[in-house]
Amino acid sequence: MSECIFCRIAAGELSADIVHEDDQVLVFKDITPQAPIHLLLIPKRHVSTLLELTEEDGELLTHVFTVIRKVAVEYGLSKKGFRTVINTGDEGGQTVGHLHFHLLGGRHMQWPPG
Ligand code: 5GP
Ligand code: ZN
Repeated sequence: MSECIFCRIAAGELSADIVHEDDQVLVFKDITPQAPIHLLLIPKRHVSTLLELTEEDGELLTHVFTVIRKVAVEYGLSKKGFRTVINTGDEGGQTVGHLHFHLLGGRHMQWPPG
C-alpha cells in the first residue's frame, strides 16, 4: 500500500470529496479550505514535485490546465477570477509530496502571498 496520501485518494483507499475524475487526473475538495472554493487537482500518477516534470509531460500538463479551466467555469469562477497555485518543496510551502494544483476562488486574493 502506498504511503502517499494523494496516491491513496487516487486509488480510492482514502475518501475525498471528488468533483472530477478521468483516466489522468483527479480533482477533490481541500480538507482545510483557505477560500470558499478550494480544490486540489492531482495527476493520478505519482509525481513528487514540479521538479520531476519533463518535456514528456506536456500532454498531461495541457490536460491539467484544460480540466482546471473546466472546473473553474463549472464553479462560476470565470467572471470574477480565481487563483491557481503550485507549492514546491519546503520553502515553497509544499506539505504533501505528490504534485498538486490548488484552485482557489470565491474571495478576493491577496498579493504577495504569505
Ligand atoms: P500543499 O501545502 O502541499 O501545497 O497543499 C497540500 C494541501 O492538501 C493542503 O491544502 C491540505 O489542506 C490538503 N490536504 C492534506 N491532506 C489532505 C487529505 O487527506 N484530504 C484532502 N482532501 N486534502 C488534504
Ligand atoms: Zn502519490
